Amino acid sequence: MRHVIKKGITLRFTISLLVITAILLTMLTSITSAVQVNRTSLIDNYLSKNEAYSKKLASNTSELLNTMQENIRAIADISGRDGSITPQMFDDLFQENTQYFNSILIADHNRVVRAISPHTTGVIVGDKLTSEQSMKAVTMKKTFVSEPYRATTGRLIILISAPITDKNGNYKGFVGGTIYLEEKNVLSTMLKEHFFGDGTYVYVVEENGDLIFHPEQRRVGQQVLQNEVVRKVVSGESGSQKVTNTLGRVFLAGYAHEPSSSWGIISQTPYEVIDKPLRHLVNRMLLFSLPFLILILVLAWWVASRIAKPLHTLAKFSDEATLKPVPAEDIPDIDSSYYEVRLLSQSVKIALQNMNQDLTHLRHEVNIDELTGLVNRRGFDSVMAGWLKSNVPFALILIDIDHFKQVNDTYGHVIGDEVLRYLARLMQLVASEEDVCFRYGGEEFGILIRHCGLVRAKDLADRLREQLAMTKSPTGQPITISAGISASPAHGHSAEQLVMRADEALYHSKENGRDRTTVSRGA
Ligand code: GH3
Ligand code: MG
Ligand code: MG
Repeated sequence: MRHVIKKGITLRFTISLLVITAILLTMLTSITSAVQVNRTSLIDNYLSKNEAYSKKLASNTSELLNTMQENIRAIADISGRDGSITPQMFDDLFQENTQYFNSILIADHNRVVRAISPHTTGVIVGDKLTSEQSMKAVTMKKTFVSEPYRATTGRLIILISAPITDKNGNYKGFVGGTIYLEEKNVLSTMLKEHFFGDGTYVYVVEENGDLIFHPEQRRVGQQVLQNEVVRKVVSGESGSQKVTNTLGRVFLAGYAHEPSSSWGIISQTPYEVIDKPLRHLVNRMLLFSLPFLILILVLAWWVASRIAKPLHTLAKFSDEATLKPVPAEDIPDIDSSYYEVRLLSQSVKIALQNMNQDLTHLRHEVNIDELTGLVNRRGFDSVMAGWLKSNVPFALILIDIDHFKQVNDTYGHVIGDEVLRYLARLMQLVASEEDVCFRYGGEEFGILIRHCGLVRAKDLADRLREQLAMTKSPTGQPITISAGISASPAHGHSAEQLVMRADEALYHSKENGRDRTTVSRGA
């Protein structure tokens, strides 16, 4: 029983798949590592850029605060020396300082306002200041930068103040300059001009972690101590790191501590800015490797085909060869550069050749009578069937040895068999090469003669009888035969008819005294 083999996965497909997988994995690895390397360097880049920038801004802020304190001290000196300053003079002093302060004022030791500019602040001369920071100014009697606080006017401000002493060294009150945190001020002017376009921004916290500058104005005053970077910077550290802000966004932040005010300045870039160059990198790498990829794929397909094609031919051929015998010359020559394929091909070829030989041999055996070497009954049937099918005219002589039982009885079966072989030999001598001599069974024989009429057939049968009469058989005596002849198409178109007609004729020969030939009567 031959099993049907499912087609399944072919060798070529497997090899191609293997190559494609290998290439894709390699590509994936190289792209991943390139992305990794680039990401690290981009991150480092942004971190150090922000750190340097925040440090620079911290030193700018130091200078600014210094200048502001110096200016306030200068005003305090003037008012201490001159005793009283006219409102006009004070307005002039404010005009000189508008780039630094949102307002300036003079308060006496009871915190009562003695001068203020501009006049639009909501506080007027004679008002008493109530804030803690003004209290601090009169008690400390020192120059200082306040924490942010809500002033009497409701504004969130920072106060920079300096004490006033008269010529004799008596404390007279203080000069204060304010920064309105929630409005345009000196800090916002300095910090806002730095704009990068990549989402980087700067913000400033004071020592309690309150925002004193933020590009989003409404966030000024918020407490952002839960931000890790803010905690670090207010505790005096400077540096850089990746950080998640209070709103949950990730940034690459650089931070610097400003020592004189204990403010922290943070410059940070949204983490997603590195995505764009990385995406760009991946796209470029893919685009760059695409032609190579296609080339390698085509090459892989070609190599796989080269390996697989001879095997495929061989496999297909072997498969067909199991169905029907293949002539040796049809066995394909498999030419492959692969040793294993050549070896396999050779083995298949030898195996097929052997199989062919066996088959031919077997086929021969099946149709040949073992005792006499003549065509047997089966061979006779197939030869006659072939001739009938192709309408070849032919004659059939059926032969039966006369009194053969007596031969067996007298000389034994061994001699009997020799007589059978002897008759076979003589039949072949008399018949021509084209004719087919056969053993019909037992001691009955026959000859099929192509392109032959009844007369010629009778002639041949008679010649055989003559030869037998002239020769000694293995018994030491000549033997005689009886023969019957029919012919196609004269006596029919089927094997049965022809055999029957020849058999009838043979019967007549026996009836009429044996050792004779009878031709079947006309159709
Ligand atoms: P006749 O044909 O003239 O009427 O007489 P006969 O004695 O030949 O009769 P028949 O044809 O019926 O006899 C056939 C005999 O042939 C019977 C059998 O013993 C013998 N025989 C058949 N096959 C073989 C064989 O293979 N070897 C031997 N030795 N004898 C065989
Ligand atoms: Mg017989
Ligand atoms: Mg007989």
